[in-house]
Amino acid sequence: MSLTVMKFGGTSVGSAERIRQAASIVQRHAQQGDQVVVVVSALSKVTDLILSVLNSARLGNGEVMEEGLRQLSERHEQVVSELFQGHTRKAVSADAQATLNHMRDFCAALKLLGSATPQVMDMVLPLGEKMSAHIFAACLNELGAKGTFVDSARIVATDDKFGDAAPDMEATSRQCREILLPLLQQGQIPVVMGYSGATAGGQVTTLGRGGSDYSGTIVGAAMDAHEVWIWTDVDGVLTADPRVCPDAVTLPEVTFAEAIELSYYGAKVIHRKAIWPTMDRGIPVWIKNSFKPEVPGTKIVESLPESPHPVKAVTAVTQASLVTLTTRRDVHFAEIFGRLFLRLGHEHVDVLFSTQSSSENSLGLVLREPDTEQVVRAIQRLFRTELKHGILNPVTVHRDIAVIAVLGSGMKGYCGILGRLFSVVARNNVSVIAVAQGASELNICFAVTNSRVDDVVRAVHQEFLGAEAAN
Ligand code: ADP
Ligand code: ASP
Ligand code: MG
Repeated sequence: MSLTVMKFGGTSVGSAERIRQAASIVQRHAQQGDQVVVVVSALSKVTDLILSVLNSARLGNGEVMEEGLRQLSERHEQVVSELFQGHTRKAVSADAQATLNHMRDFCAALKLLGSATPQVMDMVLPLGEKMSAHIFAACLNELGAKGTFVDSARIVATDDKFGDAAPDMEATSRQCREILLPLLQQGQIPVVMGYSGATAGGQVTTLGRGGSDYSGTIVGAAMDAHEVWIWTDVDGVLTADPRVCPDAVTLPEVTFAEAIELSYYGAKVIHRKAIWPTMDRGIPVWIKNSFKPEVPGTKIVESLPESPHPVKAVTAVTQASLVTLTTRRDVHFAEIFGRLFLRLGHEHVDVLFSTQSSSENSLGLVLREPDTEQVVRAIQRLFRTELKHGILNPVTVHRDIAVIAVLGSGMKGYCGILGRLFSVVARNNVSVIAVAQGASELNICFAVTNSRVDDVVRAVHQEFLGAEAAN
């Protein structure tokens, strides 16, 4: 009997109708004799709302906090009342209300304290998943399947980097087997809260925003599942974000390496760390549309035959910045830059790309905007002496830029891509702020001003992936 882990994103459980549809996808699959473990996100927009409730609580804004709590209650009550009746309705509703009361108590405490550490935030942020997983399990029961709620804190073991935790796969595998296997053997369908886990000491952690995809692949890898299916609101991985390029098309297959690059450079359809656990074990991942379950979707696999089309997709990370560091010319800059990269590693900062020019003794780091302050502070602390004595020039920060990535394993050894790419950018009258081609030749990244990012993505997509280019 094969095991499939199915993860449903926020829009796939965004309303009573969507939850019923998602649960029936699971029930039909289970009926065919397969074992299924479900991983769910919170109802769409619920985590944003919880975050805003938490922020208003710690800033002492009681009215906004109360309004947010009221909306959370109304949203879940609405879904519960549309899905269930009688005793089930009472039980599921009581469950959601208990979670919301817990949230309210927390918020009252935060309001008094006037602050919240990432650890405290992580105790509340996954409560949306707690409610959706309970509702989903009950909905499976209504359909005649045996859904069972599973708290992620009992199975997903992580480190203590609150807000962006990483899994301990050994402990997670042990816990998943101990808790999920007996349920599966009894014919149950475990419904696991996405997005969160817990440290060895039992403190709740979250895996970063959009982290339920990561939960899905962590559980899939821990259970050595046959496949992981990520159900979302688009037909699979597309050649570009369909909100920016309406003519983007679905890619039937991409490799693990391509999927990692795509998600790292902004394709929101997969969390940027989600591919790692399954790639290590060679478990295929499917991205599927829960609105159109009959469409096959995109299969993410270990390797693919060479494609005649060098470029597979265009993605973008908006809100980035370029931090530039220059040293005096008589200094051995590699030692200085080496120390900096070591520090960034310790602080778990991901650099989108970097450029180094030895003639100018300068290093450019292109970072996600939320990481910028942390990096500038780290540079100022680490190189206090060098900055004071002019060995390093003052750090410069260029904000409001975006990084565009052109991706595809077929670009390796293919002539003329860079020429075509930058001709398109120039024709759109946009100047390139920084550029890097990955040594693996899997991607070309470049930075442009944020205000022109969509125009450039559309133009580059048209050049390499538009109807004409595809023929
Ligand atoms: P979920 O709630 O199911 O996790 P997300 O909103 O996180 O869904 O991710 C799906 C969204 O990702 C799509 O609606 C689409 O707008 C966006 N997206 C960005 N880039 C891509 C891409 N290359 N392929 C598919 N979707 C993309
Ligand atoms: N609910 C979480 C978020 O919105 C996790 C997820 O949906 O993947 O970030
Ligand atoms: Mg998502």
